[in-house]
Amino acid sequence: MSGATQWPSKGSRQASLLARLDIQRPEDLLLHLPLRYEDETRLTSIEQAQPGANAQIEAEVLSCEITRPRRQLLARLRDEAGSEIVARWINFYPSLQKQLTSGRRVRLFGEVRGGFFGVEMVHPRLRWVDKGDPLPQSLTPVYPTTAGLGQPTLRRLLDATLETSPLDEPLPAAIRQRLELPGFAEAIHTLHRPPSDADEHLLTEREHPAWQRIKFEELLVQQLSLRRAYNARRAHDAVRLPLCRTLTQPLRDRLPFALTSAQRRVMDEISADLTAPHPMQRLLQGDVGSGKTIVAAFAMLQAAENGWQAVLMAPTEILAEQHYRKLAAWLDPLGVDIAWLSGGRKKRERETELARLQSGECLLAVGTHALIETPVALPRLALAVIDEQHRFGVRQRLALRNKGVAGARPHMLMMSATPIPRTLAMTHYADLDISTLDELPPGRTPVHTRLASTARRAEIIARLKAACLEGQQAYWVCPLIEESEALQLKTALETWETLKETLPELQIGLIHGRLKAEEKTATMAAFVAGELHVLVATTVIEVGVDVPRASLMVIEHAERFGLAQLHQLRGRVGRGATQSSCVLLYEPPLSGTARARLKVIFEHHDGFAIAREDLRIRGPGEFIGARQSGLPLLRYADLERDKALIEPAREVAEELLANHPEAVEKLLTRWLGGREGLLRA
Ligand code: ADP
Ligand code: MG
Repeated sequence: MSGATQWPSKGSRQASLLARLDIQRPEDLLLHLPLRYEDETRLTSIEQAQPGANAQIEAEVLSCEITRPRRQLLARLRDEAGSEIVARWINFYPSLQKQLTSGRRVRLFGEVRGGFFGVEMVHPRLRWVDKGDPLPQSLTPVYPTTAGLGQPTLRRLLDATLETSPLDEPLPAAIRQRLELPGFAEAIHTLHRPPSDADEHLLTEREHPAWQRIKFEELLVQQLSLRRAYNARRAHDAVRLPLCRTLTQPLRDRLPFALTSAQRRVMDEISADLTAPHPMQRLLQGDVGSGKTIVAAFAMLQAAENGWQAVLMAPTEILAEQHYRKLAAWLDPLGVDIAWLSGGRKKRERETELARLQSGECLLAVGTHALIETPVALPRLALAVIDEQHRFGVRQRLALRNKGVAGARPHMLMMSATPIPRTLAMTHYADLDISTLDELPPGRTPVHTRLASTARRAEIIARLKAACLEGQQAYWVCPLIEESEALQLKTALETWETLKETLPELQIGLIHGRLKAEEKTATMAAFVAGELHVLVATTVIEVGVDVPRASLMVIEHAERFGLAQLHQLRGRVGRGATQSSCVLLYEPPLSGTARARLKVIFEHHDGFAIAREDLRIRGPGEFIGARQSGLPLLRYADLERDKALIEPAREVAEELLANHPEAVEKLLTRWLGGREGLLRA
């Protein structure tokens, strides 16, 4: 092996270029697969070359010159049949001119087009040849790369690596046969060095069996690492919290409504988890308004009736306070005390609450991240519920987990109103058990949604006035201004001023993130009490706010919001029995994506359908973005196109974890190296 093809030494320029492509080891290079392939196995005559298509042409240099005033390198070449072509470079090294000496034979590869100088190729790839030199036998791979690292270098390195690496087969033969997948070594060789008879179309479209194998393996590794994280967490001890019914039954008896069958089902799932001696790790997903809070309340009571502590953590002050009020209303009559901790509460109040929790006198608590940030001692914490879990990061979940009793971990219930399509849940949430509320409480009337251009603002305001004078309440949501919070605040204030001026007969309140906690509380309370007709709000109301009497919502600059956000916002109305409506005000002209998004919200009311469309419009990377999963994104498998591989990947993962630990190690090392790292709390 020559020096040029040895694995680059640590700290070398080549090593750092490879590192930019996340290639640290030979294994990484082997899994650095071509973006596409070029066909250099055939020659095309200049006469037959199709404009706009790639072709390889063999020709002799006739002349070569640098033109002025627009500095370009122009070479004229002629092929065997006597037709001429111009090769043109706008950027070039002076040495290139010296190489293009007349009479020299070269193979040009590139896109043929008709130009000012006749048939031409701009910046063709060159290969110097002698007459009769054989053509390559296989398609030429083109790799993703980075500036300074050329295709020939990557190919040379790969040649050497392919020759020296063992390419072990991790999958037991029986599994491979069952799935009808080619072996790893065969797949890797085919993708890097396709044999001459390989189907070019299947290779380029990534549908070749060799690609199937790699994509399957990638999905399998994802399942393995997630399932392993799941099993590792499950191996810890947790406090057993059997259903005693001393508190849960009285709550059931007093509930002002009948639970939906979906609520009963997920409550049973959670209750069974809490009874087990290892920590629950469950995600409760349910559309906006599906009634997750009461499910959380029952779980918390199951802890309390065993004499253990439970907390509910919410991402915003408004939401935490609302949860507190709701839980207190349900629990007070049972004589169950609940603490409320948030950054906005007065220091003395907070200290009192802390002391009650610390002494174990109070078993239940609701709060914001103040629950984890302050030195809250929860000596008997056995259950942590996290509402709107995607709003929290890994670190915060870890912090909560570590508050538990020494030697045991708290049961964790994560709640989310952003339902995840099944395929995505099966891949990205494979380390959690999932419960789904797929039913809304009865009596909800679907929100009537309308789109209106800002030109119709006055008309919308007139309708708002009429509705409010008839006793309805409304939210007016101010535009999202991502670049600047200050600007967003300014807009909110202006909107509030203008609405107050235009509608002097109405009581109009304003709520935004910068208000003091007491101000927020007072404003929300006034709105809940019906003292305000209209609540002008920034997106602070996006999550969880529940005021059943509010039946009208106007969202300004709706085109700036994401789909999940619009769905959440709209979910603030339609909570009572009155027909509710939501007006999406947009500023024309709309971009294509903005139009597509608004259309989805207009046409769909079901959070799952909206999530599916969102996934389609944005792709999984961005969709899942907020999860901070610590898991590398899929490079080759596509959740939509390759969904048929997901279920088998999951099954094989379980099989390998149970019976083939050495295969698991091999796969994880190959794909993730040491990068499996901290796989989430
Ligand atoms: P989300 O799932 O969006 O958090 P909430 O828990 O806030 O939903 O519930 C929405 C509203 O529905 C609340 O006012 C709640 O008290 C009420 N609710 C919950 N379950 C039921 C039910 N089974 N029947 C009627 N109303 C319910
Ligand atoms: Mg909620």
